[in-house]
Amino acid sequence: MNSFYIGKYFTITLSYFMLREHKIFQSELYQTNCSVLVYDECKIVIDPNWLPSEVKNIRTFVDQTHDNTPIFCIYTHADYDHIIGSYLFDDAIGIASQQCVSRGKSSVPQSDIQDFYNTFYINIPTAVDFPKIDIIIKNSEQTLLLEGVQMQFYFLPGHTIDSISVYFPEEEILILGDYLSDIECPWIDNNFELYRMSLMEIEKIILNHPLKCIVPGHGRKMTHQSEALWRIERDLQYLEILESKAEPDEIVDFFNKNYSPNPKLLEIHHLNEKKLYKN
Ligand SMILES: [Zn+2]
Repeated sequence: MNSFYIGKYFTITLSYFMLREHKIFQSELYQTNCSVLVYDECKIVIDPNWLPSEVKNIRTFVDQTHDNTPIFCIYTHADYDHIIGSYLFDDAIGIASQQCVSRGKSSVPQSDIQDFYNTFYINIPTAVDFPKIDIIIKNSEQTLLLEGVQMQFYFLPGHTIDSISVYFPEEEILILGDYLSDIECPWIDNNFELYRMSLMEIEKIILNHPLKCIVPGHGRKMTHQSEALWRIERDLQYLEILESKAEPDEIVDFFNKNYSPNPKLLEIHHLNEKKLYKN
């Protein structure tokens, strides 16, 4: 979209750049989502992830347009599952938050990737490295206009300190990062209060913007505002239960009804408890 300022009160908006396709690649591991947006002028990849064959598949899809337009690769945060496929997007223009870049300097995400490959005897496809970041998001609500595509970034530091979401106003698409999953309860890797504030921020974004598609980091996408609002309420309710030191039975019952009947969620809950009572 291009906007031309022609006076105090008027702008002419011309839409040249049309989204051709938005494809979500979902890994079989943890149902982790990678979105690819294909435009005439560029391609945008968000969180290329998991197994080498899956990452190759994403790259093949990106390449099949054969049009040599630039590739932008956005990383919602530096958890290793969200950056693990970056090695096939070395030629892309990397975008991430300032805090994401700082986490990369700690080398923890890289050793997590190495550990994952070693654990499952996966032939490491390349030297493990942190993605190259060319555009750093420094403020929440920062907007970029790249090759005619507008995008707005929001800081959501509850899950991890570097978490961001990105909203595409023309396309009415919101890519959330690790929030509002239908299969995983909130995972508070940074701070309990900031997690609550991040949920409130997401609620504000959802209430104030038209949306056709909302993509969580893991699980099923949402196509209705009402479902996203329901997931926010559910996650806020979980935070209350967590804070009230509820009995394990009550927690399991809540998980079974609201996420998935997966006993592993209790492990995330115990990590959240540790985090909450340490802070
Ligand atoms: Zn994740």
